[in-house]
Amino acid sequence: MTENNGQTSIRDIIAATGFRFHKGLGQNFLTDKNLLAGIVKDSGVQSDELAVEIGTGAGTLTRALAETAKRVISFEVDASLAPVLDLSLKGVENAEVIFKDVLKMREEEIAEITGEEFRLVANLPYYITTPLIMKFVESELPVKSLTVMVQKEVADRIVAKVGEADYSSITLAVQMAGNANITRIVSRKMFFPSPNVDSAVVHIEMDRSKLEGEDRELVHKLVRSAFAMRRKTLANNLAAAFGYAKAQATELVAAAGLDPQVRGEALSLDDFVRLSHLVKELARS
Ligand code: SAM
Repeated sequence: MTENNGQTSIRDIIAATGFRFHKGLGQNFLTDKNLLAGIVKDSGVQSDELAVEIGTGAGTLTRALAETAKRVISFEVDASLAPVLDLSLKGVENAEVIFKDVLKMREEEIAEITGEEFRLVANLPYYITTPLIMKFVESELPVKSLTVMVQKEVADRIVAKVGEADYSSITLAVQMAGNANITRIVSRKMFFPSPNVDSAVVHIEMDRSKLEGEDRELVHKLVRSAFAMRRKTLANNLAAAFGYAKAQATELVAAAGLDPQVRGEALSLDDFVRLSHLVKELARS
């Protein structure tokens, strides 16, 4: 019933507590100690820092984080994991599990619970990856970094370069707030039970100075509208989103030094910022 270091194995704990996996909650747990230690390292969390985890699961990543971080606050939506966590986190004094749906929590509530700057670490259920990353990247919360296990395809989108097929609004939303890189690829075999896809860990180091003094909301709106219909030209998408006449939208695109036939996927973040200045000028004239 025990592993080498004296801890009861997660599989045994799950069997002993009679825990039933909820497929709909993306409950694919990590148990490999080297991989867990690797994710903690990727997060960059230090001994004087708070780590916030989303999705405690059976608490394996929570325990690994608690070995390095000053403190861990871990959010889990499924309260039926409590008996599992009572056993798996036994003796871990600096980790607290809060049973709440993070997607439904207001920013102020998260700030009140966390109380200081933190590094976010999560092995996310695939269906909440994008809303969850966006929630924290776009928030005013004092997040230093996000280290998230996501579906490999999503990781490729986050780190895509301008002009690549994977380049999308999430690439730019992340670029607006920080710098992203893939730290490791993780085979589906590393999870218990195994999902149908491979995963990757993405680290986003936040940089609040990016877009300082710019109208972030407008840049966001431009990005969202540019990718609203990928097959349409930027001018057509802008006309639809901002209510411009076609000729006016084409003029705007040309004034930004871009080909009037250009599509959103060819624009860098700097191009979107330049476009936002022109949209403002146009609104003033
Ligand atoms: N961190 C654990 C690990 O690495 O083994 C568990 C990862 S598992 C992929 C994702 C966990 O997130 C599940 O335990 C699931 O119940 C939980 N979860 C799903 N949606 C959530 C939400 N909206 N808020 C908090 N936790 C959530």
